[in-house]
Amino acid sequence: MCNKKIMPLTKALQSIHIDLHCHSNWSDGVLSPAELVKCAQENGAQLLALTDHDCLDGLAEANQAALACDLPFLNGVEISVTWEKTCTLHIIGLAIDVTNQQLNQGLAMVRSGRLKRLKKMHEALLSAGIEGVYEGALCHATNKPLVGRMHVARYLVQLGLFDTPQSVFRHYLVPGKIGYVPHHWASLKDAITWIRDAKGIPVLAHPARYNLDEARMIKLLEEFERLGGIAIEVGSARHSDAEIMRYANWAKRFKLEVSAGSDFHAPYKNGSEIGLSPQLPQDCQVVWQRWLAT
Ligand code: AMP
Ligand code: MN
Ligand code: MN
Ligand code: MN
Repeated sequence: MCNKKIMPLTKALQSIHIDLHCHSNWSDGVLSPAELVKCAQENGAQLLALTDHDCLDGLAEANQAALACDLPFLNGVEISVTWEKTCTLHIIGLAIDVTNQQLNQGLAMVRSGRLKRLKKMHEALLSAGIEGVYEGALCHATNKPLVGRMHVARYLVQLGLFDTPQSVFRHYLVPGKIGYVPHHWASLKDAITWIRDAKGIPVLAHPARYNLDEARMIKLLEEFERLGGIAIEVGSARHSDAEIMRYANWAKRFKLEVSAGSDFHAPYKNGSEIGLSPQLPQDCQVVWQRWLAT
């Protein structure tokens, strides 16, 4: 499927041309699947997976675009999970069969509460003096049932209240802030089971972003592995170099494979680039080995 020469695993800071985590405007990215594929290819990507939140709708267009420009491509998804009652995790499914019924039904269930949650966010932010969040966020969402916190963030930027979506998150949208509305997503077991039922590879996305102490991280990794998880996303644009080293060691300890992705949503200054992800330590057992041409 792709050339072995793509992995010059040398310096820790370099980018690699493999991206197994990104978002189109079918979830909370801004580019269409075809635009994403084009940009990834222009950036020199040698393997790409589109992993929209809880939906598979962008994959047909992405496949077609990837085929047209000869870019190796995997069908992917990023499933929202609630773990231990309050912790939101993201589980990526790579190389999934998009026709799988169990996966499709599961995702439909996970998607179903987003509009109700947006109503609650609207009310919470109204109490902080910010008007029009419900309609405003929906205007930014191409796929309305998938509306999420990122669309709210873009609306607040549009209002001129903040310069970047990141600062909106910090002020209003993360746990403990006024606009954060707790939500119940899929269970970890369900997400992994759906992905495996669809012949996919379950990957724990950006593990350093969950603020888990060491004991809980061990608990999560044990559970993930026991339920059929296969890889952790060590190379994430949302990880520091120290976190990359740390999670590469966790992967080794739990005999999990290693994945990498940009988590690209939109082009912005100092943001991640589509088609590229951070370099990994030399001795990682990478998840994409199974898709390389031999
Ligand atoms: P939702 O699924 O609607 O709760 O939104 C989750 C999405 O919000 C993630 O996939 C990211 O795109 C974005 N997000 C979450 N936390 C942050 C943060 N602290 N800064 C920027 N974006 C964030
Ligand atoms: Mn997102
Ligand atoms: Mn995520
Ligand atoms: Mn993501």
